[in-house]
Amino acid sequence: MGVPYNRRTHRCGSLRKFHVGQEVVLAGWVNSYRDHGGMVFIDLRDHEGLTQLKCNPETDPKAHSVARTLRTEDVVAIRGKVVPRGANINPKLATGEIEVEVCEAELLNKSEPTPFTVDGAGEANEELRLRYRFLDLRRAAAQKTFRLRHLLGKTIRDFFHDEGFVEIETPFLTKSTPEGARDYLVPSRVQQGSFYALPQSPQIFKQLFMVAGFDRYAQIVRCFRDEDLRGNRQPEFTQLDMEMAFVKRDDVMEIMDRCIQRIFRDTIGVEIPLPLPRMSYQEAMDRFGADSPDTRFGLELKNVTDAVRSTEFGVFRSVIDAGGVVKCIVVPGGSTLTRKEMDGLGEEVKGIGGGGLPYAKIQGTADAPEFATGVAKFIQPVAQALCAAAGAKPGDALFFAADTYSNVCKYLHHVRMRLAAMTKAIPPNKWNLLWVVDFPLVLWNDEEKRWDSTHHPFTSPLDEDVHLLDSDPGKVRAQAYDVVLNGQELGGGSIRIHRRDIQQKVFSLLNISEEDARLKFEHLLDALSYGAPPHGGIALGFDRCVMLLANQPSLRDVIAFPKTQRAVCPLTDAPGPVAEAQLKELGIDLRPEVKARLAESKS
Ligand code: ASP
Repeated sequence: MGVPYNRRTHRCGSLRKFHVGQEVVLAGWVNSYRDHGGMVFIDLRDHEGLTQLKCNPETDPKAHSVARTLRTEDVVAIRGKVVPRGANINPKLATGEIEVEVCEAELLNKSEPTPFTVDGAGEANEELRLRYRFLDLRRAAAQKTFRLRHLLGKTIRDFFHDEGFVEIETPFLTKSTPEGARDYLVPSRVQQGSFYALPQSPQIFKQLFMVAGFDRYAQIVRCFRDEDLRGNRQPEFTQLDMEMAFVKRDDVMEIMDRCIQRIFRDTIGVEIPLPLPRMSYQEAMDRFGADSPDTRFGLELKNVTDAVRSTEFGVFRSVIDAGGVVKCIVVPGGSTLTRKEMDGLGEEVKGIGGGGLPYAKIQGTADAPEFATGVAKFIQPVAQALCAAAGAKPGDALFFAADTYSNVCKYLHHVRMRLAAMTKAIPPNKWNLLWVVDFPLVLWNDEEKRWDSTHHPFTSPLDEDVHLLDSDPGKVRAQAYDVVLNGQELGGGSIRIHRRDIQQKVFSLLNISEEDARLKFEHLLDALSYGAPPHGGIALGFDRCVMLLANQPSLRDVIAFPKTQRAVCPLTDAPGPVAEAQLKELGIDLRPEVKARLAESKS
């Protein structure tokens, strides 16, 4: 009959001292085994933890002989008695005060030797871990992360349900919704030559829900963006997406404040004070060089253009004459940085397009600062004004960028984050959340010589800036808001355009012709003409939230079956080739060079 594994009395993490004397049935995987001169010890694992099993050849020879054959990752069920561990208590283990004396053991399934040990999976090569993701996910840390992920989803759903929101699903086979990325396309079989786009977000549909009168909508939804996967991105990811009718932007931010507070409280027990602070886009760029500033530490950017206006130093001179800016970061006590570290940062700035990173250290006294190393001798004549403008003192180091405003922001933001890591300026266990508001509606794309939306084309301008749409579009601020956590954009949203004429005006500003607007967005324009209420909403990166709450370094750690940087799933080997017949059905013929490449890779 075997061990009744369908009647487990406990899970492997739950037995304590007070269970001593009880007969239990456990089932799980062999985490490790040790043969101690006859006595066999096994750590049995399930999703809750580990329990030590003891198999005694004298008292239970049958169970012992089964136990002797067991190897890691074998699946077993046992029946036994909880006994105290005596002198061998393991304080690191929740079940460390007891062990189970096995009287019956049954091997339910033998495992092949695994390509890496589940316990040590963290150290295995990532591609291998993803190839055998089902083993990788057996790790206690992974189990914990995905339970947190579940809890986050539940918390969000409970919150929005309590606030009167409805969750309604939106289609995956749809038309493009522009969020600034490339679409994933799905060919239609019944209309050959036509393609669906997988949604980059449910943006238009949620706006249609508002026109339809649902009033409050929230969905945890998959989105797809075919982007170059540099850094921490995934081609399919999950958002918390919400929309509300008859609201202004303060209303959306206020409800999200409370949602975020509830998330932190219910998932990791951290209390976030409300309201979350707000900062304008301009202030964020001025002080931090980034629109998602990490406010957990200082090292802010100081504008020293005026202080060095009289300089002869060529690098600054040419920039000032061309109308650019000179800014710097002061590293308090930075005189201890080595030349190698400082030059290394300069190389990094070159790597992101800059000319280098002028620097100097400050010596002397507060009244008579003297610069040393780097560009010291060139800037010594403006030493006093410079130190006053930058708030720098002897013992500090200064790093400069001189260029256009936006380039200076880009370089110094990079330098600031690197300096924070180098000088260990980021305090642990700190959660800094803030709203960034008053984004520009559009940004000039110098390569393409056109205006691009800062968020997306449905974002409403601030009422008081609408008149600038024709005359000075770069000055128009958007009714948009981003929420930032520890320097990472957690999400963003806006009040939407709800009038057809303004939407058309913004389309034309973005160089979307009337013809194109009709082709792509006629359904939205129609909806705006049939009684669209004022509305707005936001989306938060759900995976990113899990990543930050679980303190994991990568999105791949919080997505069950993620893709690699090459957008490949090592587990299923997707994407893969399809049969010629399938392509034919879809009316698709591969280009000759693609066919040749495929044939080559097969041979
Ligand atoms: N659709 C936007 C996004 O995916 C969010 C929003 O505006 O609500 O980023």
